[in-house]
Amino acid sequence: MRNKYTTLNIKQKVRIYSIPFLIISVLIVIMESFSTTTPLKKCWEKQGKIIDKNLVTFYFNEELNKLGHNFKPWEKTKYSICGNIWVNQNRFLKNDTLTTKRKRTYYSKTEYYKNTLLYLDYGDKELSPITNEMYLKQLIKSARYSPIYLLNYFVENTNKLSVKTSPESNIYSITIGEIPVQLFINKSTKLIDKISYLTYDELYGDVVTSYIYSSYKKSKTFNYPSKIEIKKINGKVVDKVAITNLKIIPDKVQLLEKPTNYKFVTSKAEKKTQIKTEKYNGFIHFINLAHTEDKVMVVEFEDYMLVAEAPLNSKNGELIISEVKKIAPTKPIKYFVFGHHHPHYLGGVRAFVHKEATVLCTTISKEYVKYIANAPHTIQPDSLHFEPKKLKTQTIQDSLVIGKKNKMNIYFIGSKSAHTKDFLIYYFPKEKLLFQDDLCWIPKKGPITKARARQRGLYNSIKELKLNVETIIQSWPLENHKVKTIIPFQDLEKSMQ
Ligand SMILES: [Zn+2]
Repeated sequence: MRNKYTTLNIKQKVRIYSIPFLIISVLIVIMESFSTTTPLKKCWEKQGKIIDKNLVTFYFNEELNKLGHNFKPWEKTKYSICGNIWVNQNRFLKNDTLTTKRKRTYYSKTEYYKNTLLYLDYGDKELSPITNEMYLKQLIKSARYSPIYLLNYFVENTNKLSVKTSPESNIYSITIGEIPVQLFINKSTKLIDKISYLTYDELYGDVVTSYIYSSYKKSKTFNYPSKIEIKKINGKVVDKVAITNLKIIPDKVQLLEKPTNYKFVTSKAEKKTQIKTEKYNGFIHFINLAHTEDKVMVVEFEDYMLVAEAPLNSKNGELIISEVKKIAPTKPIKYFVFGHHHPHYLGGVRAFVHKEATVLCTTISKEYVKYIANAPHTIQPDSLHFEPKKLKTQTIQDSLVIGKKNKMNIYFIGSKSAHTKDFLIYYFPKEKLLFQDDLCWIPKKGPITKARARQRGLYNSIKELKLNVETIIQSWPLENHKVKTIIPFQDLEKSMQ
C-alpha cells in the first residue's frame, strides 16, 4: 500500500506538525476541567457516594405551602406531609401522607429511576400518566428531600457543566430538559449549600426555586443535611423539610410495580385560543375567551376605553387589546380593572401596563399588581418585557364613578364577597346591570338551589348598596360548570329564600 504521507501538501504537513500542540492543549483542557470539578468530586465523596447495593433511607416532616385561590394576595394554603425516602445514585423512592388543614389525609408514592417515573398521586388509585417533562423535573424535585440523586447527575455529566466561583462557593450549572440548574458547593465544608433552578410562570414570570441545605449531620462517613428550606417563587413562598432517623440499608425496597406497557405520554397541547366579541348595548361589550372560560367586559366612554378582567397571562391580555382596537380603533385604553386578584381576572394585566392604562385596584392588591408588572419575563418575553413601561395605579376606597354620559360605578365589597378581601363589582345604574367575577352559581337547568356564602355575599352587598339590579353578568365560568353567566336578579333573590 502506498504510504499516505508521501504526497502530503503543505496544508496537511502543517496539520501533522501541530499534533503535539493539539495533544498539549487537550491535556490542559482535561487538567483544567479536572481541577474545576475537583470540589464537585470531593463533595460527592462526602455526601453522594453510596454503593449500589445500598439505599439511604430517612423519615421526613414537611411543611408545604401553596398559593391558590385564597382570600388575599400571597396567602398560602398549608399542608403537612410526613413520610419516608429511599435514595441512592440510581433510584429515588418516596412514600408519604399529606394532611390538610381540615385534618383529611391522603397518600402518595413515587418511584424514580433511569427512564422511569412511577407516581401514585394523593387520593388516586392508579398511576399518573407521565410526560418526558415530568420525568426530567423529578430529577430536580428529588433534591427537595435529598441532593444525592441530583448530585450524582452532575458528577456523571461533568462534560456538560459550566463552572463559576464566588467567595463562598464553587458553582456548577447544567441544563436539565430546558431548566437551568445550579449547584452551590461550600468552599470550606465541601458540602452542598444550595441547589437552585429557573422556570417560567405565566403570572410571576421568571421564577427561581432554591433548596437551602443546612444543619448537616454525619452517619459514619456519610454527610446529610437534616434541614432543607425550599424557597419558591423567588423566595415569596417557603416550604420546610426536616430529616430524621437516617439509616443505610440494603437496596431491596420496591413501592410500585412498573406496568408492562410503560411509556411516557405526550404533553397536552395548549388549548386553541377562541375569542368572540358581543355587543351588549351602545357602549358595553363582552369578549368571550372560550379557551379560558372567561367573559371580559369592555366599556366605551366619550374618549377612552375601560377593560375589566384579563385571564391568566399576557398573551390573553394582548388578544383582548386587539379586540378592543376593533371596537374603537382610535380610543386609548385608559383603565384596566380586575374584580379580584385571582389569575382569571388579573393574569393579563401586563399587556395593559404596556399600553399605559391605569390599573384600578384596592390597597389590598396594589403591591401584588406591582410585583406582577415588574416581574422579569426573559424566558417567555411579552410586550412589557420588550418595552418596559411604568405602572400606573389608582386605588379605589369605597367606590368610583367613571364616565359622564354613560356611567359605570365600581364598588368595593371586599370580604363581604366571602371570596376575597379585595373584591370589586361593577354597576351600570341606567342599564340596571351588574357585572361581577364568580360569586353567583345559578344552574342553567333544574331548580334554583339555596345560595351559598359567596352568593349570599353578593345579594347582601347589592341590598346594602341599594342598587337597582335587573341583570347580573358573570365573568367565569362560561360553560364548564353548567351555571348561568347571564342571571336575572329574580334568580338570585329566589336562591336566598
Ligand atoms: Zn375567584
